[in-house]
Amino acid sequence: MSVATGSIADRIQAVLAEQRTELRHVSLDIHSHPETAFEETRACATLCGLLKSQGFEVRRDVSGMQTAFVADGQSGEGGPRVAFVCEYDALRGLGHACGHNLIGTASAAAGISLLRALSESGVPGHIRVVGSPAEEGGGGKIPLVNDGVFDDCDTALLLHPSDRTMSVMWALACTHWHWAFTGRASHAAGDPDQGINALDAFVHAYTGISLWRQQLKDGARVHGFIEEGGTAPNIIPERSSGEFLTRARDAAYLDEMNTRFAAIFEAAASATGCTLELTKNETYKDLRSNRVLADRGHLHLDEVGLSPTVAKPWERVGSTDVGDLSYACPTIHPEVAITEEGVSCHTHEFREAAATEEAHDVMLRGAAALALTGADVISDSAVRDEVRSSFAAEPWRRPEWRGSGA
Ligand SMILES: [Zn+2]
Ligand SMILES: [Zn+2]
Repeated sequence: MSVATGSIADRIQAVLAEQRTELRHVSLDIHSHPETAFEETRACATLCGLLKSQGFEVRRDVSGMQTAFVADGQSGEGGPRVAFVCEYDALRGLGHACGHNLIGTASAAAGISLLRALSESGVPGHIRVVGSPAEEGGGGKIPLVNDGVFDDCDTALLLHPSDRTMSVMWALACTHWHWAFTGRASHAAGDPDQGINALDAFVHAYTGISLWRQQLKDGARVHGFIEEGGTAPNIIPERSSGEFLTRARDAAYLDEMNTRFAAIFEAAASATGCTLELTKNETYKDLRSNRVLADRGHLHLDEVGLSPTVAKPWERVGSTDVGDLSYACPTIHPEVAITEEGVSCHTHEFREAAATEEAHDVMLRGAAALALTGADVISDSAVRDEVRSSFAAEPWRRPEWRGSGA
């Protein structure tokens, strides 16, 4: 199996070195203007501007999402097609504490550098950079997948900043719920018997969930928060509302959990006399990394000096709409360490880490590893065939995979 030719690899590195300062500006601009799900107008415009200036044909407002985009670049005539996927949404209340400024910039950088390297080497191929909004809730990749944006792609690649480096990320299937109980307000001292307590309904539901957790299979998670729980201490709370996530290692068990989750909320409504509005929002699939791409990715992460490790399956996992992408197109979503081990994402510390010069350096190395993996797919038909047959053989059993050379 051959690695990308030396000249393509050298050209990728040369383009990334040339664009280093510009890419730093883009990443910091996104980081310092955090925009949450489907409101990422500035980040989207910034990335589209960058890609346009590098010869990509950019379509915005894709799949009914104003902050989604598809940028296409062509080297020569025809050839395979590789997608690099951008994320750029921030977390509610915490800014870029998941470092999606680095994901968006790295995927754009990978696309730009690979397109230039292919063109200068006379290798035909198509590079598609896809802007996917709302990873932290909303699931922008789902409509993009459903609209066939990845149907003609041989592979789709994106990295995620982390406190460890590895080519295989594990992610749980996940459902996002909104809930609201409605009761009746009354004077909490004078006429408590006239009230129907919507906060009590939530306490019932929360207790039910807390008891249920002990009975769940390994890896399953249920967690959420209350947004409205009353308006004054002298009024029986008329309304309570909030959000929850249910998570499991596979879609079938998540379905089972979701049935029980709804039953717990319904029981709480019944017990307290409240009415319940329970809305099941987006569901993300579990993430299935492509084994062949994972091997290539591991090799290239090593080549660019990021010293990848192989994590234990299901260790410290979250969820991502890259799961949905991984069912539609051969995918890997490597993690790259931008900070010391133990600093996890969705924290204030990680948000600060996502803006450092060290993070920028790691992001560019990670972008190079993505571009080199994409170059393998475009320039080596044997790799392409293996990727395709590995994908067709899904579901491959992840616990059997122990990483490169092991
Ligand atoms: Zn996140
Ligand atoms: Zn994230």
